[in-house]
Amino acid sequence: MEAQTGKKRMIIKSVGYALPRIILPGSLIVIAAISHLLTLPMALGLIMIILLSGIACGYVRYREIEALSIYIRQLSDDRKPADDIIQFLRKDTSLAESLDELQHNWRNKKTQLETMLAESKIVFDTMPDVFVMLNRRLEIIRANSAAHEAFKRNLKWKNCDAISADPVFLQAVQSVLEEETSRSIELRIPENGRDYSLRIERFPVASPGGIALILVMHDITESKRMKQLVSDFVANASHEIRTPLTGIIGLIETIRTSAKDDPQARETFLEMMAEQAKRMNDLVNELLSLSKIEINAFSTPKEIVHVEDIMADCIQQMEALAAEKEMDILVEPHNDLPLIKGDTNELAMVLTNLLSNAIKYGNARTPIHVHVGTTSSFALEIKEALPLECKLAIYIAVSDNGEGISPDHLPRLTERFYRVDKARSRAVGGFGLGLSIVKQIINHHQGALQIESVLGQGSKFTVYLPV
Ligand code: ADP
Repeated sequence: MEAQTGKKRMIIKSVGYALPRIILPGSLIVIAAISHLLTLPMALGLIMIILLSGIACGYVRYREIEALSIYIRQLSDDRKPADDIIQFLRKDTSLAESLDELQHNWRNKKTQLETMLAESKIVFDTMPDVFVMLNRRLEIIRANSAAHEAFKRNLKWKNCDAISADPVFLQAVQSVLEEETSRSIELRIPENGRDYSLRIERFPVASPGGIALILVMHDITESKRMKQLVSDFVANASHEIRTPLTGIIGLIETIRTSAKDDPQARETFLEMMAEQAKRMNDLVNELLSLSKIEINAFSTPKEIVHVEDIMADCIQQMEALAAEKEMDILVEPHNDLPLIKGDTNELAMVLTNLLSNAIKYGNARTPIHVHVGTTSSFALEIKEALPLECKLAIYIAVSDNGEGISPDHLPRLTERFYRVDKARSRAVGGFGLGLSIVKQIINHHQGALQIESVLGQGSKFTVYLPV
């Protein structure tokens, strides 16, 4: 049946192509026969010849056009044109050249297009921000790798409430779709617990792919955390300064009024004021140390330092303080330590803080042990904190026999102003800044800090410094 219609089509088309070649000479012959310039048999013979040659030409033309259309169809379908078609078309040299050019340009354009597509996909997928595209039915039609990572699943063809079911978000999406104005909101993704600033934009042109809205989500968790840290820090620092300041103001008032004529009471109050002023001074000094360390945080220490010498100096300075509680600082014998790159002042601050804590929180009349040495075997969490290439590190461990710290406090000890027992720490002159200074300095030296403690027995703080 199909073959029959094909044949019919072939005949009709061949005749169609032949007609212009037949009509003109045929009419001339008819006119010549009517005018008796040709005899009837001659005219019939000529008409026959013209008819046959016209149809033959029409057939060839039909075959050529048919082959050309097959060739173009195969090319646009991205199939290799069949050999017999190519061979047939190549019989005409001018056609062969044009076809070669067509094929060559087609391939070039296709490669260019594929490269552009691959490049834009890479750019889309390497963007750190989450990109999601929605159609008018608010279905997700494209999402980049950052989106899949954030949501931990494939979002394609899900409704936009798969991003968030928060009514504020859904209403914002709907309003941008209807009102043609972009919107920005803040959004928390429960899947990864992170906060994003989300911008919803309309797709600027009519999209053949059906994109109606683009959602761009920028992770602001860290900047929010930093803002919170700064505001907590300012609040804590102000509070710590305000406490002795209020004390001093109160004492001044007392000296001016009730203790005005009592020299002994005035002397006591002045002493108390001096104590409060010293506390304020200590706090300001610790805050200044912290900010100085932070300023240096991005330049690696360059000095070549001898940890043993720094340690000996610090121990000597702290011995008087330890003696007040009848404590001895015992350094375990060790081999020579290698030289390392570091900052003498900062490393001295680390040891002073650790020794001062051991004295403050250790029990009176108990020894403080200091172990030093080098090691190449690290616990997993220490290995992760040290640089990848670090194979050897100096360790300095300060242990005391004291009240110890319960495990739930351990992860937060290096936060600024964090104290296990505020009153107890204040009573021994602490602000909760010592260990955060220690941590900052260790980070600056690309080292690691390990804290081990048993409640009621004591604590051990070990510093690792890469060699
Ligand atoms: P502080 O100035 O209060 O001592 P740190 O930052 O040095 O501040 O220490 C934070 C908290 O950790 C302290 O308030 C204390 O509760 C606890 N801590 C630090 N070192 C020890 C230790 N050796 N033994 C018991 N608790 C300690």
